[in-house]
Formats: sequence, C-alpha cells, structure tokens
Amino acid sequence: VEENNERAEGPVMGSVPKGKEPEWDDNIGYFIKKRLRVWCRLPNGQWGPGKIQSTSGDEATVSLSSGAVVKVSTEDLLPANPDVLEGVDDLIQLSYLNEPSVLHNVKHRYARGRIYSKAGPVLIAVNPFKDIPIYGNETLTSYKQKAKDSPHVYAIADAAYNEMMRDDKNQSIIISGESGAGKTETAKYAMQYLAALGCGIDGMEYEILQTNCILEAFGNAKTSRNDNSSRFGKLIEIHFTTSGKICGAKIQTFLLEKSRVVQLANGERSYHIFYQLCAGAPSTLRDRLNLKMAGEYKYLNQSECLVISGVDDGMKFHKLEEALDIVQIRKEDQEQAFAMLAAVLWLGNISFQVVDNENHVEALADEAVNSAARLINCSAQDLILALSTHKIQAGKDSITKKLTLQQAIDRRDALSKFIYADLFEWLVVQINKSFEVGELITGRSISILDIYGFESFKNNSFEQFCINYANERLQQHFNRHLFKLKQQEYEEDGIDWAKVDFQDNQECLNLFEKKPLGLLSLLDEESNFPNATDLTFAIKLKQYLNGNPCFKGERGRAFGVCHYAGEVVYDTNGFLEKNRDPIHSDFIQLLSSCGCQVLKLASPSSQFGGLELSMQSVGTKFKSQLFKLMHQLEKTTPHFIRCIKPNAKQLPGRYDDDLVSQQFRCCGVLEVVRISRSGYPTRMTHQEFAGRYGFLLMDTNVSRDPLSLSVAVLKKFNVLPEMYQVGYTKVYLRMGQIGTLEELRKQFL
Ligand code: ADP
Ligand code: MG
Repeated sequence: VEENNERAEGPVMGSVPKGKEPEWDDNIGYFIKKRLRVWCRLPNGQWGPGKIQSTSGDEATVSLSSGAVVKVSTEDLLPANPDVLEGVDDLIQLSYLNEPSVLHNVKHRYARGRIYSKAGPVLIAVNPFKDIPIYGNETLTSYKQKAKDSPHVYAIADAAYNEMMRDDKNQSIIISGESGAGKTETAKYAMQYLAALGCGIDGMEYEILQTNCILEAFGNAKTSRNDNSSRFGKLIEIHFTTSGKICGAKIQTFLLEKSRVVQLANGERSYHIFYQLCAGAPSTLRDRLNLKMAGEYKYLNQSECLVISGVDDGMKFHKLEEALDIVQIRKEDQEQAFAMLAAVLWLGNISFQVVDNENHVEALADEAVNSAARLINCSAQDLILALSTHKIQAGKDSITKKLTLQQAIDRRDALSKFIYADLFEWLVVQINKSFEVGELITGRSISILDIYGFESFKNNSFEQFCINYANERLQQHFNRHLFKLKQQEYEEDGIDWAKVDFQDNQECLNLFEKKPLGLLSLLDEESNFPNATDLTFAIKLKQYLNGNPCFKGERGRAFGVCHYAGEVVYDTNGFLEKNRDPIHSDFIQLLSSCGCQVLKLASPSSQFGGLELSMQSVGTKFKSQLFKLMHQLEKTTPHFIRCIKPNAKQLPGRYDDDLVSQQFRCCGVLEVVRISRSGYPTRMTHQEFAGRYGFLLMDTNVSRDPLSLSVAVLKKFNVLPEMYQVGYTKVYLRMGQIGTLEELRKQFL
C-alpha cells in the first residue's frame, strides 16, 4: 500500500495568488488612511487581526490584537470586516471575502456550536466530532414548520423537497469534502429529514434508512483519517408520489476500493463486515463457514488493528442481519454472502510452496485451501490449479504455465478482490430490487450524492487520479450552476451581465477526456500494449501532452495536472495494472462452474458474460459512469453541501486554520467566493439601502423615493461607477464597497 495517507508538507495548493484582490488594491489607500482593521500575515503564514498605525512606502506598522506591534509589507495585509458582520450566517454578507475573513467567520460560528454556514447557495458544514443537540424530531419539526431558517442540512433538504413539490423538478443534494469531513453523516441527516417529510407507503422510509447500515458494513472501513470511512461513492435516488410520499429508491455506487480486501496500511482495517461476521456470527453459522476469530486471518491481522474503540462489531452484526431482513434479502442469500466473505478470508490464508528448481510454486493443500474451495463450492484441486497455474490459449490448444510465488500471490489476491467486489455489486442490486419503483413520476425525486472530495497526498496514484477527475466534473457542474443562477438574477433585475466574467475548467476536463490524446485515452492505449510499463506510459504522456497548459511533465514516472483546486503530481506506478484490472479466464471458469447465486459472474441468470466484463478498462468504465451521473444530475436542481474537517485528529473543539483553509480551496468555497467577486456580491433593495445610508446625505432636499436616495448616496461618497449597478429593485455593489459605507456610517452614529 502506498504511503499516501499523509498530506504533503506545507500547503499543497499554494495560497491565493497575490494580485487577485483588485477590490483591496483599490481600497488599500483608504484603509491605510483610516487606520482600519486588517488581517496581517504573520511570520508563521497564518493571519492575525490588527490595526494599521502608520505606513511608509510599501511598509506598514500594524498593532496586532495580541498587543505586539509589527512592521510588514502592505502586501501582507488584507482588509478585515467591520464588527457588525462578525459571525454572519452567509459569507456573502461579508464586505471582504478574503481568505482570513472567511476562515474567521466560520471559526467564530464553529466555536459557538454553529457548525453550518452558507456561502451563497452553498451550505458549509464543519464536522463537530461530537454529538450536538441540533438534530432529531424537535429541530426537524421547526425546520419543517419554517420556525427556523438558520443554515442547516435540514434546511437544504427542506428546500429540495419544497422545490420538487413546487416545480415538479428532480432535485439533487451534492455533498463533497475530504475523508472524515462528515459527508456520510450529513447524507444520513438529509435522508432522515426526507424520510420524515415523505413518510407514507408501507414504512418504506424506514427501510431506506436501513440501507445505510448495510452499505456501511460492506463498503466502509477504519482508515487513518476516519474510523468509518466510506470506500466507495454513492448516489441514492429517492422517489416520491405526486402527493410527496416516498415510494421507491435506487442506489448507485462508484469505484469501490478493492485493494483494501487484501492489503492494509498499518493501523487501518479492512471492510467492517469481516470483523462483524467474525465477532457476531452465531455458532451454527460459524461451524458451517468454519469461521475463526478475525485475528486468525492474514488479510485482517496484517495491519495490527482488529478493533475500533467504542465499536462493538458483534452487536453491529446483529444490526446488520436485521437490516438485511428489513430490505428483504432472503436468508439463504444472506448465508451465501457470508460464505463468500469467509471464502475471501480463507483465500488470504492460503500459502504456497516451491515445487521445482525454477522457483515455481503450488498452493498448499491445507485447511485454508480446503475451506475456501468448499465455500466457493469447487474442488480443492481445481482451486489449487487456478491459483498455481496460468492457462494460455494458443489457437485450439492451451498451454499451462506454472507461476512464481509473487505471481501466485497476486492471483490469489486478484481472486479475493474480484469475489468481494462482485459481492458488493450483488448486494446493491438486491437492495435496489427491494425498493423498485412502480411507475416513475418525472420530477418527483431527490438524489443525494456522497462522493469522495478532491485528494492531494504526498503520493498520488490511480485512485486519486480518478477521484480528482470526478471532482473536476462536479466542479464544472457547480460553477455552471452558480453562474447560471447569478445570470438569471442579474437579467431579471436589468443588470448589465457582460461585466461578470467566469472561468471554466473545461480545459482541464479536456486534458482527461480528449480522444485520442487525452490522459484516459492514452492510458487505455498503453494498457493494451503488451510490453508497456508505467514508465513508458509516463513518457508517452509527456511526449503528447507537454505544452498543454493543464499538464506538467515531471521527472521519471510522474506527471502533474493543474486542477481547479491546485496542482497534483501523480505517480504512474501501478496505473496500467489498475486500469486493466484483469480477470483471469481461469477464474471465470472456476467461478462459473460453482453456481453461486451471489456472484454475478457465476450466476446462471447473469446477463453479463464474464469476458465482456473484462473488456472495459477501469478508467473508461469510470468515465462512462461519471458521464451518466452528470447527465442525471444535469436534469436536477442542485443543492450543494461542502463538508469541512476542522482537524486531522477527529477531535471536538479543535480548529486548525491551515487545514481548513486548504479545504476551502479544494472544495471550492473560495471558488464560490471568486465567482461572487467577479460580480456584485452585495445586493440590497433600494429600501434597505436608502434606509441604512440615506441619512449620510444630511440633505432633506433629495427626493424621498428609495431609488433616488440610493443613487444620491453612491454619488456623494464617490463610489466609482464601475463598482456598482442599480437594478430595478436592488443596488448591486462590488466586493468591498459596502464596508466603506459601513465605516462612514459608524463615524456618523
Ligand atoms: P466522510 O463521509 O466525509 O468521510 P463521515 O460522515 O463518516 O465522514 O464522518 C466522520 C465522523 O465524524 C463520523 O463518524 C462522526 O463521528 C463524526 N461526524 C460527522 N458529522 C457529524 C455531525 N454532524 N455530528 C456529529 N458528529 C459528526
Ligand atoms: Mg463517508
């Protein structure tokens, strides 16, 4: 397992480039003159609050709130927001949307138990890592009755539901964030809310909530970053009747991490279900599966981590059995599924001995082989053969080649991964069967997407490559939606739209998707060359893609991609093999003869031919899955939730500024900010504006209608014409303008 759990040292993404703060540049003179509050970049790179005392040239003397007085370059200063804006619900309300201001605002709220904030239309959720009393029936009811409207995941679910009912339009709730940020919990709260709103048909809402328990058992694991980390992406689509009752559901999953079945980093665990089964299976089942305790299986004991503190795997097993019953998975199917899990565990215990002087090996015919074979329902001899030899088809004849130790181990592990992944898919199919929607009503569904966020580690492999590609697509969806929303609003209010520019990430997507010279196509091409290696792949990339502004040739096997969230360097080590993900024909033979119902490949009713399955590369399959997903999402009204992990230790009450700001950049909070900056983030109705600042005119001669008053204020205080627009109903101001007016107002009061 690559050591990619650690973040690269220092900020990976680089800070917001200087010179991207035009509003500030325009205002700096004013700030200095008025000695207003600023954020000052401290020697440790963090931002501290202070006040400018004096300036000379490019240098300013700043007194920090800690009492210290420092001399800094004016480049290291950013404007701070006036007091009135401390801890606002929506970051859009801030006059200055710079990084320290955004960070401070969210931190201020977090310290007061307000884990949710808005960034325009986006909900930001900061993981509290402790139970806080903001969920459950009482809160749920107040959101339902609109007695509460502070930012909350319930408010988002409520908005989605109401918009669906009102517009007859499908909705989606798109949740992203890094591992451990709280996506899955947030998704569950959203489901809980929808279940409460849409309860009705035969208690189906209760059954749908049970799917979480099943999918988490089979698809979640303890990692170094999250004790209950989902190792797959998930889209759950909930369907409603015309009267708004839940009547069906459908689950889609993406990119299950298969390698975890056979290989673990120290301190991490495999999928929960293995430990649950070992700890909780009743004795009759144990006997039938020849089940041992978790510690006796090599796949599980390799990482020296068998338990999670505070979690009772045995009890979880009973909960799981209940959930499987509730979603109507037949007892005999459940038992077959458990048998496959036990088979995987026994496969991991199979060892090999050298049988000739060319270091060829054969699997030992011991308890492990016998148990695995019995559970898979094949003969021990067939299993040994499939694990120790490789059949090559040469015309009509086939040649059997013996394997070396490493080759045999790889095959054994490939079989285990294959069985597990197939079992997972089978499970999803079964769950979906039990929620099959009778007749679909268009415009009556809410989809919740819980998908891994952007990842940038010290060592980035094929998995990060796919995940970041997916995030690039989601980011485009996000940008376009946001842009469209703003466009609509401006147009409706008669604002000159051309002045709002918008930067698309299409170029980066092209780098991935273009045929024949995109990353995915080149990867497939190289994967098909028998003599290709990860190095030849890297060389090929550089040969064709150098010069593409989103591509960076790096040394050796590495290459870089400039993602919207920053540059990531990928190591091509393992790319070809992971992309091919071959299923050996020997396995297909072996498994299809065993007649196991829970393996798709082996199931006689299967519509998939085994070979067909192996034709498509992982990258290409993922791309088409992603396209399907995007197509589906495009037909919905999206609601975005960005989850933030406040510290890497999973502890309550800790807020690590650097970690949070890194995520703000990665998950696009700053992107919303940037898009808002390019437009007119402050908008007030003429009434509001005139009411707040009209008195500054101190002139009774001005007409009393709010629009004229507003215009007079803007003129009198020299707000530059390019800094505002006056619409039919509202005044629109560029970033920073309202802060100036606020300060003036304060001086008069
Ligand atoms: P992700 O899916 O983003 O990897 P999870 O949703 O699994 O993260 O959250 C990780 C852990 O953080 C959870 O197991 C839980 O302990 C805690 N957590 C997340 N969200 C909340 C919340 N809203 N309230 C309390 N604890 C939470
Ligand atoms: Mg998760």
